[in-house]
Amino acid sequence: MAVDFERQQKKCPLAQSERYETSLMLTYEQARNKVIEQVGRKRGPRDVVGVSVWDALGLVLAQEVKTDRPYPPFDRSTRDGFAVWAKKVAPGTKLKCVGEIKAGDTVREALAEGACVQIMTGAAVPAGADAVVMIEHTHREGDWVQFERTARAGQNIVPRGSEAAAGQTILMPGMRLGYAELALAAQVGAAQLQCAKRPRVAILSTGDEVVLIDEAPGEFQIRNSNSVSLSAQVRIAGAEPVVLGNAADRAEDLGEKIERGLREDALVLSGGVSMGKYDLVEKVLKAMGAEFFFDAVAIRPGKPAVFGECQGKPVFGLPGNPVSTMVTFELFVAPAIDLLSGADARPLPLVEARLAEALNERPGLTHFLPARVEWRGASAEVKPLKWQGSGDIAALAGANCFLVVPAEREKIAAGEKVSVFLRKDVV
Ligand code: AMP
Ligand code: MG
Repeated sequence: MAVDFERQQKKCPLAQSERYETSLMLTYEQARNKVIEQVGRKRGPRDVVGVSVWDALGLVLAQEVKTDRPYPPFDRSTRDGFAVWAKKVAPGTKLKCVGEIKAGDTVREALAEGACVQIMTGAAVPAGADAVVMIEHTHREGDWVQFERTARAGQNIVPRGSEAAAGQTILMPGMRLGYAELALAAQVGAAQLQCAKRPRVAILSTGDEVVLIDEAPGEFQIRNSNSVSLSAQVRIAGAEPVVLGNAADRAEDLGEKIERGLREDALVLSGGVSMGKYDLVEKVLKAMGAEFFFDAVAIRPGKPAVFGECQGKPVFGLPGNPVSTMVTFELFVAPAIDLLSGADARPLPLVEARLAEALNERPGLTHFLPARVEWRGASAEVKPLKWQGSGDIAALAGANCFLVVPAEREKIAAGEKVSVFLRKDVV
């Protein structure tokens, strides 16, 4: 459809001058801290659900977990070998082997001072014995075992209760349940865990040009990829996405859909926060009573990112260009989801790497460039990828990190150390 400019002028919902005008530009670190401070301030007890240990991966624990008995529950051998009285073993010593103890065997009898007993990894060390000599350091002939070395008291034995005492708290509320934490819960018999409910995060894209991903877009329309990336990012961050579709660049439609989004624990919008005439997100939020904590961040891509609170809920207005949306989500929304989940905000996954080729960027803003980091032995090397700017999803799809170019840097020589912001979903 051809554009009738004159008619469009008359229909324009808001004159440019009416736009919300305060500019609160922060560095990305300040902006992130602002989010953590504001969302953290409101952190209260979360709704709790009982979840099987099999299904609790990534959830945040809402209870203490205590041991049911000492760990290990008995003096445990960590090697296959022979249990001995350490003081009786020197190079060349021969001791009579009086039997064997397998993992799981009941062990009641003490070991006589001048004897040894064959023992397997994970088996209980008998009373009296205070060392296990690895089988590799012995020679066996019939019932007799000859030792090559001196034994040291305590060697290859983990004493009863040395990992944890009975009744000791081993997992705390606020801990995120990864595989080791789940194994620990399983070890002590905590098969059901009280966890914080995942926060629900509403996702609303905006823009007259945006169509559903299964629709055929017109020549000048684009598919709603942001709702897909945001939904994935919300999930990775540990929350449940509530996808609300797309709002047109009209105050009324935006207002209705924002209202719906504010029923969830947080609302994330994409698009409509730049300086364009139809960028109405801030204006509409403002009219709905929002308070803003920043509405610009000194980064590229992602500068127009907005964070505020509306009707008691954190609201993020992320710029609509897909790479901007993705970067600003990771920087600002992910820590809010951590806090809403009952955990502390996880630090940004920043690592140091050597720059593979010289860089020349405009100074003034911190740049997040799609890049690939490769590890050569212990040292990491990072190479920026060719890209066409913040709309270039293909560049980011081949990247495993963002190369962070500090605002004050213009030229960075090959070989210099730089900071790399890992894409946790692919590295
Ligand atoms: P905006 O921030 O609203 O000015 O949007 C900037 C650009 O981002 C638009 O011109 C689109 O090309 C792109 N964009 C906006 N919304 C979406 C979306 N939901 N999915 C993919 N691209 C988008
Ligand atoms: Mg737009």
